[in-house]
Amino acid sequence: MILQSVLCWRRRAVTTGLISNIQKYSIHDGPGIRTTVFLKGCPLRCAWCHNPETQSAVPEIFWDKSKCIGCLTCIGVCPKSALTAGSGGIAVDGEKCVRCGRCAEACPSLAMERIGSEMTVPELMKEVVKDEPFYEQSHGGVTLSGGEPLLQEAFAEEFLKACKEKGYHTAVDTCGFISRQALEAVLPYTDLFLYDIKHLDSAVHEKYTGVSNELILNNLNWLTEQNADIWIRVPLIPGVNDGAEHIRRAGELMLRLGLKQIFLLPYHKMARAKYERLHLPYSLSSLEDPAEDAIEPLACILRDLGLDVHIGG
Ligand code: SF4
Ligand code: SF4
Repeated sequence: MILQSVLCWRRRAVTTGLISNIQKYSIHDGPGIRTTVFLKGCPLRCAWCHNPETQSAVPEIFWDKSKCIGCLTCIGVCPKSALTAGSGGIAVDGEKCVRCGRCAEACPSLAMERIGSEMTVPELMKEVVKDEPFYEQSHGGVTLSGGEPLLQEAFAEEFLKACKEKGYHTAVDTCGFISRQALEAVLPYTDLFLYDIKHLDSAVHEKYTGVSNELILNNLNWLTEQNADIWIRVPLIPGVNDGAEHIRRAGELMLRLGLKQIFLLPYHKMARAKYERLHLPYSLSSLEDPAEDAIEPLACILRDLGLDVHIGG
């Protein structure tokens, strides 16, 4: 009885999620108009990640040079003396900063931002419910994304369950590098998985993401055995995974698994500014966006295999 109480308490205690963003009116994360909730924390470090602010599983302080008016209010309010002004602008000492967010609250121009807010499921549902009319009219719903949303397994399960109780269509955007237990937990409440294939060669996968692809492919296989609805997404990175042979292999894998929908997501370099603001290195700085006519031949290969191919989100 005592053990049960402790387990119940633990479960309640972990159902706060760390959220980096709630994006409304999204049309790229599943069918219809959706609310996409981005959870913080990811086990991968994809070289091309366009949401680097979601990688770390703790809140972060994000300084935007273009908005800063140089008033130094942030430095004055910081209780830990973690901020300094220099020729490069405002620098955050990650060792001293306790992510209290006071600098962001005090900043008059919104140049300082604390990324990562803790929310309970009822708090998040209050936000999501506001867009219910759009879900109904567009056959849309709610998508959990990140980062890797299933790293916050208990929160994801409880949130998706609450969405299903409201009758919303639910989608989970996953990198697949997560425990089977996490997938099992959310499967009953997930209508659609948006599942990334980044590279089929495990060594190349590890080189560009930091992890091998075995777990990801095993989980994909398992999800198809459960008859889950799955849309495959391939971020097309020039020179990394956009060769015709690799795309053909991805399509053939889908055929073997009985999957039909594939989304090709062309690389874009818009995220580079985020790396600068977060003081993170960007290893693909010499990479250019793919030529407009580079995607269609790849789409043709997949269409010839009988797949439904979509370009973009
Ligand atoms: S408070 Fe905001 S605007 Fe003022 S120096 Fe700090 S970041 Fe810049
Ligand atoms: S989050 Fe708090 S500790 Fe960190 S820099 Fe801002 S005010 Fe200082």
